[in-house]
Amino acid sequence: MAHDAWNSLVSRRVADATPPESPETTTGSQLQGTTFAVKDNIATTAEATTGGSRTLESYTSPFAATVVQLLEQEGLAMVGKANLDEFGMGSSTTNSWFGTTTNARYENDVRVAGGSSGGSASAVAANLATFSLGTDTGGSVRLPASYCGVVGFKPSYGRVSRWGVIPYAQTLDTVGILARDIDTVLRVFGVLDRHDPKDPTSITTEVRGKIAKTTPSTSYTFGVPSQLIVQELSPEVIDQWTSVLEKLQEQGHKIRQVSLPSIKQLLPAYYTLATAEAASNLSRYDGVRYGHSAESAPSPTELITGNRHDAFGPEVQRRILLGNYTLSSSSGDHYLRATKIREQLVHEFNEIFNVPSVLFADAKPVQTDNCDFLISPTAFGPPPTVEEYLKKNEENFLNTYINDLMTVPASLAGIPAVSIPLNETGIQIMGQFGDDESVLAVAKDLM
Ligand code: GLN
Repeated sequence: MAHDAWNSLVSRRVADATPPESPETTTGSQLQGTTFAVKDNIATTAEATTGGSRTLESYTSPFAATVVQLLEQEGLAMVGKANLDEFGMGSSTTNSWFGTTTNARYENDVRVAGGSSGGSASAVAANLATFSLGTDTGGSVRLPASYCGVVGFKPSYGRVSRWGVIPYAQTLDTVGILARDIDTVLRVFGVLDRHDPKDPTSITTEVRGKIAKTTPSTSYTFGVPSQLIVQELSPEVIDQWTSVLEKLQEQGHKIRQVSLPSIKQLLPAYYTLATAEAASNLSRYDGVRYGHSAESAPSPTELITGNRHDAFGPEVQRRILLGNYTLSSSSGDHYLRATKIREQLVHEFNEIFNVPSVLFADAKPVQTDNCDFLISPTAFGPPPTVEEYLKKNEENFLNTYINDLMTVPASLAGIPAVSIPLNETGIQIMGQFGDDESVLAVAKDLM
């Protein structure tokens, strides 16, 4: 496999991507004839599933993920696997064993595609596929969608099956959809949105039936979380963002500033929880049962240590170290504190929306004086060039973690969030847990 060409990664099966004749369709008839790309941390059987890692370079899964099976049952054709930051860790798609994926939106400039689903976003921007699947743990569908000028939807946690998805941080991992328009996202979501008994975190049919939906309206209240209006936002984003808010008001919607105090503590909480889960998940890659392995070593310990050292890239090794530190007794109570911040955030979000969350047994009554949706920019600014990005990362890797501020709130609360391209920038809309249809419907109105 080429190490530097993202398009070779997404176009391996273009030649045989013609949809089968007379497909047996159930719900997605309007998707007939469309093609899709799949982030390479989602299992497929016809080609390798690498997670962007050397350790799985030649691993082929014996089964396909539920999401892939559902799309194939609709008769849709996968055109190829899309590059990603190794195991989904990153915001740039520069952390892949197979090389960097650049942003197809910029012809004369080598800009980052965003990450970690950069291959999925860039493939759609380049028209190599009608839509693609990505995964979003802390923003990995929304950030690349914003950078590549496409729609990126992260459903509520549990609405789409994770079975067959290589886990990064399983309490946050969510399969997302990228496309050039909302209608395609809606149709794909219509196919994927169902209970999967194979995924213990999949929302049951009974609970799905109890989800409260925002009543359609021509005058919604959009909340702007004050903690997301930060000095890091670029002047371009502020300009474009302001004109989106003005337009919403002209259309009869209300804009209100709201406060979610926990957001200020979310980046450390996210990186505590995500790295702890990642360190635990990645312990399975020892090169003994499968994965990259040396021919021999003086002892089993040296074999495993050597395999992991050679097969994981620097970002993954950093996260294993951070995560194992958090999980060790010497780290104090970081993990518990991060869990508490997350809990607090879930309550703050629940309070802010008019409709109640199905997650709370003592559901509050439907309100009218709170918010229907929250709205914010998706990213601090336009995508940097690959060179600028790598330089910033080399100066201090924390520089590249900061942009996640905009996207991790929805991830930690498990709520639905979509990034849509408006006025040349990515605008993020978030809604109450489970109310995915309303988030997509309002996004459609705005586009
Ligand atoms: N940039 C974040 C991280 O590296 C988010 C990644 C993701 O959503 N997979 O953890």
